[in-house]
Amino acid sequence: MSDQQSMIDSLRRRGIHDERVLEALATTPRERFVATQIEPHAYADSALPIACGQTISQPYIVALMTQSARLTGREAVLEIGTGSGYQAAILAKLASRVVSIERYDELAEKAAQRLAELKIKNVEIHVGDGTSGDQLNAPYDAIVVTAGAPEIPEPLIDQLAERGRLIIPVGDETDQVLKVLERSPEGDIVHDLCPCRFVNLIGKHGWSA
Ligand code: SAM
Repeated sequence: MSDQQSMIDSLRRRGIHDERVLEALATTPRERFVATQIEPHAYADSALPIACGQTISQPYIVALMTQSARLTGREAVLEIGTGSGYQAAILAKLASRVVSIERYDELAEKAAQRLAELKIKNVEIHVGDGTSGDQLNAPYDAIVVTAGAPEIPEPLIDQLAERGRLIIPVGDETDQVLKVLERSPEGDIVHDLCPCRFVNLIGKHGWSA
């Protein structure tokens, strides 16, 4: 069995049940999103280092966040924290359009190059402070934040469509909880998914640098 298939089996055992999400992870080569010397570890269920002192997220957390976005193929999705581009590649297979914002030029450029090489055409990568979201293209059906925020940034809540889902780690680097906020006509509903550990979300509505 390939390392990638073992990863999928392990995600299934850990409770990832959305077959479309599992298929997206099974057909996206994670080794293409890390440096050559890290390739042998690409299918370990752990976060791995990328450039600029950042990380590519753990496959289980990528799968859980994606599953929580409940995508059917028609959605517009905003990702904050492009990093390697891996989560964006997964979202791209499950939604109609993905906009991803990264604060480091270098990461944004490399991620765009990887997505182009993999012929993924429905992702737009922007460089900037994602804590203010993307007012120009809002509302979004789902917003996935892949860095830990001190609290849920108001602009991101405002940019969610009716019944939209915002998935975001909240807390500092040592104590974070992955949260899902769902917009509903009766008011926003927030629930906790699990403890997690992401790098900090740095910006106007995040942590200071
Ligand atoms: N989604 C990424 C992937 O699949 O590789 C992993 C992202 S990494 C855990 C978090 C990323 O968020 C880093 O690349 C970091 O530079 C970025 N980041 C932190 N604060 C940000 C902000 N305010 N706006 C945009 N990106 C930010």
